[in-house]
Amino acid sequence: MIHIYQFHDLNVVLDVGSGAVHVVSDAAAALLRAREDRSSPAGEPFAAEQLNGSVLGATPASSRTNADEFVDGQSLATFSETDLASARGEIAALTAAGLLDAPEMEEDVLSPEDRGAVIKALCLHAAHDCNMRCAYCFADAGGYAGARALLPLETGKRAIDFLLANSGARRNLEIDFFGGEPLMNFEVIKELVHYGRAREKDYKKNIRFTLTTNGLLLDDAKTPFLNEHMDNVILSIDGRPEVNDRMRRTVSGEGTYAHIADKLLRFAEARDAAGKLYYVRGTYTKYNKNFTEDVRYLADLGFHNISVEPAVSDKLEPWALTEEDLPEVFAEYDRLAAFMWEWEQAGKQISFFHFNVDLEQGPCAYKRVAGCGAGTEYVAVTPEGDIYPCHQFAGETDYRIGNVEGCFQNRWFDVFNKAHVFSKDECRSCWAKYYCGGGCHANALRMEGDLLRPHRLSCAIERKRLECAIGLVCARAMTEEISRE
Ligand code: SF4
Ligand code: SF4
Repeated sequence: MIHIYQFHDLNVVLDVGSGAVHVVSDAAAALLRAREDRSSPAGEPFAAEQLNGSVLGATPASSRTNADEFVDGQSLATFSETDLASARGEIAALTAAGLLDAPEMEEDVLSPEDRGAVIKALCLHAAHDCNMRCAYCFADAGGYAGARALLPLETGKRAIDFLLANSGARRNLEIDFFGGEPLMNFEVIKELVHYGRAREKDYKKNIRFTLTTNGLLLDDAKTPFLNEHMDNVILSIDGRPEVNDRMRRTVSGEGTYAHIADKLLRFAEARDAAGKLYYVRGTYTKYNKNFTEDVRYLADLGFHNISVEPAVSDKLEPWALTEEDLPEVFAEYDRLAAFMWEWEQAGKQISFFHFNVDLEQGPCAYKRVAGCGAGTEYVAVTPEGDIYPCHQFAGETDYRIGNVEGCFQNRWFDVFNKAHVFSKDECRSCWAKYYCGGGCHANALRMEGDLLRPHRLSCAIERKRLECAIGLVCARAMTEEISRE
């Protein structure tokens, strides 16, 4: 399978089987598109390349009448015989080298179901409470539809013991302090980090700690500890003050921007100085489909590592993104990619999380087909010590799979273990399958009612982001090649 698309003025071809990415001539792109059109008459709904036809100046596939003659509104006859012959040679050479139409991974050779029940990552809910009341919060403003509570120290210690005891031969483990707002329970987090550091030695393991915070309680007193012990800190802010304050509010209903912006920036500067990683993470909704302006705003403030993601909300919510928004959202990712390119060319250091893709190595093969590992190698633990397949399932009693103080019996293991790209119809035929890993289980269940049916809106956005990410890699490679010549 190949995926061919236009990224600004580049014709990008991804060969799904080999993972090779090519920038090809207009004539080669036209020939490959003609071939693809002949072999896939229907096209898929929500495909980025169809919906953003107007952005890229392409003619939607459904309106093409003769793929042999017309490709993206351009007749093959507009290419000279020499160009077409050279393009055919280009395609034949790539195919002969195994870099085009390469066979894909075999499910039986690479079955993610062989992984075994080993846990390597824990989302530790330090607080089921929050000092914010964000409108789009999936976690019921930190309460997860249950009693508000802070993680007791002893329960946290049992959670760490549980991870260590169930990690098999895995040496590197991860614990993410999550909420609600975890800094509401900072003293317990400190104790737990020290406990984890002591226990990891007994087990000859290495625990990587991370933390996600809304920033309200960040202060200079906490920074040295967080810098010493947290490998990554995720800082939540949506961007422009009016965008942030529309959705992210305090308990009393005030906008939070004025309370957090300086704290987050000061903290990010301290992380930079300490050589430690952070990301500011924003959420975009129907209200700020021009989210490039939020990325630009955050970058202008001085943040270097930025992530902005779509809110996944019930269609009935006024801020919910729907399929009608996709053309604008796709166009916005193109704008964002152009903006990122400008910044890179100007020598400014900036990273947009969803445009980071490693085409050389990337995630391990299992992760490529099985995604985040929720319910198998990654679980969440609540302040009551209850264990769930991931943080998004917390509080859904059907999905409770044990307690760190008592028994752990993961009756959902087989279901989650089999929810990989080879077992989902949509994923099997999707060009993005080895990059996305099959999407978010919780979104599939909540939005489509079936763990094996990926959330279509999220898929469309994921594919568009990947196109931009791969396109930027190509643009960099082309620029390097030109500067070498
Ligand atoms: S800060 Fe996070 S947990 Fe708290 S209300 Fe907002 S989204 Fe929910
Ligand atoms: S979950 Fe990922 S691989 Fe599956 S259809 Fe969606 S984008 Fe494609």
